[in-house]
Amino acid sequence: GAFLDAIETANPHLNAYVKVTPEKAREMAKASDERLAKGEGGELEGIPLGIKDLFATEGVHTQACSHILDRFEPRYESTVTANLWADGAVMLGKLNMDEFAMGSSNETSYYGQVVNPWKKEGSNQALVPGGSSGGSAAAVAARLCMGATATDTGGSIRQPAAFTGTVGIKPTYGRCSRWGTVAFASSLDQAGPIAHTVRDSAILLKSMASVDPKDTTSVDRPVPNYEDAIGRSVKGLKIGIPSEYRVEGMPAAIDELWQRGIEWLKDAGAEIVELSLPHTKYALPAYYIVAPAEASSNLARYDGVRYGLRESGKDIIDMYENTRAAGFGDEVKRRVLIGTYVLSAGYYDAYYLKAQKVRTLIKRDFDIAWADGVDAILTPTTPDAAFAPGEITDPVTMYLNDVFTVTVNMAGLPGISVPAGLSESGLPLGLQLIGKPFEEETLFQLGQVIE
Ligand code: GLN
Repeated sequence: GAFLDAIETANPHLNAYVKVTPEKAREMAKASDERLAKGEGGELEGIPLGIKDLFATEGVHTQACSHILDRFEPRYESTVTANLWADGAVMLGKLNMDEFAMGSSNETSYYGQVVNPWKKEGSNQALVPGGSSGGSAAAVAARLCMGATATDTGGSIRQPAAFTGTVGIKPTYGRCSRWGTVAFASSLDQAGPIAHTVRDSAILLKSMASVDPKDTTSVDRPVPNYEDAIGRSVKGLKIGIPSEYRVEGMPAAIDELWQRGIEWLKDAGAEIVELSLPHTKYALPAYYIVAPAEASSNLARYDGVRYGLRESGKDIIDMYENTRAAGFGDEVKRRVLIGTYVLSAGYYDAYYLKAQKVRTLIKRDFDIAWADGVDAILTPTTPDAAFAPGEITDPVTMYLNDVFTVTVNMAGLPGISVPAGLSESGLPLGLQLIGKPFEEETLFQLGQVIE
């Protein structure tokens, strides 16, 4: 009840929820109370959550914040959300996001921008919450839910978490099932939680993660009780500091924050080592080939026949064209065009295949670090704090937001962003910890030292 009231008051200003589901929330909360009264109940009994609009929710509009999925009501539930409900969680509604999860500022949503609950000191200027999981991050930061689901293809959990002072973890590729989650770039997409604390994110990830026969890329490994990692000593853990993440033009506050993070981990008994990830500088351009390529293929299904919107046309081709022209926003169209181009005959080898080779080299950089005994890597999450809507108009500059996060997706590794301090103007900044495959526990363990 309190959360629904808070949403009613604050959401008109923040636009974090695109759909609130009060009846469903009350019904689920009642069922939860009944289970608790009987002494039954799961680990998330009664916990109110917001769900990114990318997750299919049975009987509740799921549109990936695109016009092309207009009023689409799935008849199935995504595995991730089904896992949460099975543990007793309660759905408050669907959260705003960049259209099809393409963006870093939540400005590409068909349902409008999300306002970051944080403001610069002494200023009333609205700021972006980051993207694509901007609604998830803003809703958590403004306490319009206790936690939220999110997805991360190239930073979309970690960058908005950093911009809003929340904790966001992208687990290892294959840890959460992608079944029932609207696909953007299938070889990169991973679900994960955004929450207030490292402990909350550990509890939520445990529920979201599972092996799922419906997603052949989900990995058959038991899900650990991540919460056990909280409070475990970090003494003797080897933390790598990659020199390539010191980029030109980065504000001093980010560098200072990074130094402070190093000191905190050192004081807690971790060992700090410098390391090199030489292919880092190619990660961003390679990502912006691989992700659009996969997106152009995944988005081919939105043809006006199977889902959502249908525009009229003089024949079927004309109908497809009119539907896509009206249904997709500019950023989505840009990605489909880039993706189609890099996959086309004659260009495939030069772009897509090259990018895949770069991806292997990026993964190898990390493999070398792990082989040298490094347990985790510490970097800033973003090169700067939250910016104002409309401030970044050039797509390439916008893509620079992802410079520290995309390597992790390209290598399929787990990464967590933990709030670590404030910028000169009083905005939240995050530090990122990158871990070995399926060693999310190490990230929770270290993340708690930083938060
Ligand atoms: N900002 C990146 C993009 O636009 C990442 C998006 C994401 O992780 N979903 O592709």
